[in-house]
Amino acid sequence: MAVVDSEACITLGIDIGGTGVRYGVFKGDKLIEDGHLPSHRDEEPEALADELSRLILDKDPDICGIGAPGMVAPWDGVVRYPPNFPRWREFPLKKVLEQKTGSDVWVVNDGVVNLLGEWRYGAGRGYNNVLMLTLGTGVGGGLVADGRVVWGSEGCGLEVGHISINPDGPRCRCGNYGCVERYIGAEYIIERAVGLMGEYSGSVLSGKQDLTLLDLADAAEGRDLLALRVWRQTGEYLAYAIVSYIHLFAPKIIVIGGGIANSYRFMKGVVDEILSERVMMYERRGIKVCQAELGEMAGVYGGYILATKGEGLWHFSE
Ligand SMILES: [Zn+2]
Repeated sequence: MAVVDSEACITLGIDIGGTGVRYGVFKGDKLIEDGHLPSHRDEEPEALADELSRLILDKDPDICGIGAPGMVAPWDGVVRYPPNFPRWREFPLKKVLEQKTGSDVWVVNDGVVNLLGEWRYGAGRGYNNVLMLTLGTGVGGGLVADGRVVWGSEGCGLEVGHISINPDGPRCRCGNYGCVERYIGAEYIIERAVGLMGEYSGSVLSGKQDLTLLDLADAAEGRDLLALRVWRQTGEYLAYAIVSYIHLFAPKIIVIGGGIANSYRFMKGVVDEILSERVMMYERRGIKVCQAELGEMAGVYGGYILATKGEGLWHFSE
């Protein structure tokens, strides 16, 4: 593929998330337009492919970079078994979009595009060892180690949401038990809040129908005890996972992104406590844990980087 860096070049960056698709149109290196589309999460993959084809034909980019859930490698762009898209199995998203639109398309794991965005333009700027966590419908992320993106032997990046923090815990959609995603994925946070309502009759959330994470954040802002307890528990689960990530990958900075990142402030206290107790030499290592800077646009910027840097980002040797 051509490396595209001309100022007139139009690039489309796309991040496919559980609750929606974010996209951005870049002219040269400037974001000139952004928007979102439905994810068609509970439908066959063709529904989203049709939606994305229309977007690509409408914006007419020279090249597209897409982050997709599930296991997906850059060389074939086949999306494999995304746990939160129940009707997807193995779907050749890159090939289908290229055939329908004639555009050049790259597809990688969504955790990787979020990582690329925050590493180059956000909180991870200037660091050579960065762990990105995206907290939303699912829990994903990616790793830069010693200045390089870690793609793994299959090119699919890492599945950081599917490490078990409780081997006797509930079954996760991925097949494992007690995954961190099974505790802090959006729907499970809500489920826990609903389960605790009986103990907090004075809560502003008590008896509320169709509770959302925004409700839980607003209530925590008002010091509601139920909401604070739910965020504290969520922070505990997140911290147990981060302890393992630090011991495995030794990042210098851990960037918390995704739709739930704005509520990291309600979890930060307990995360710091647990990391101090459980990570080897934590206080002396100067590891930073912070909120992402680009918010939900991280994956869009990452898609732009993927499209323009392309093969320069990977060094497969297996
Ligand atoms: Zn899992």
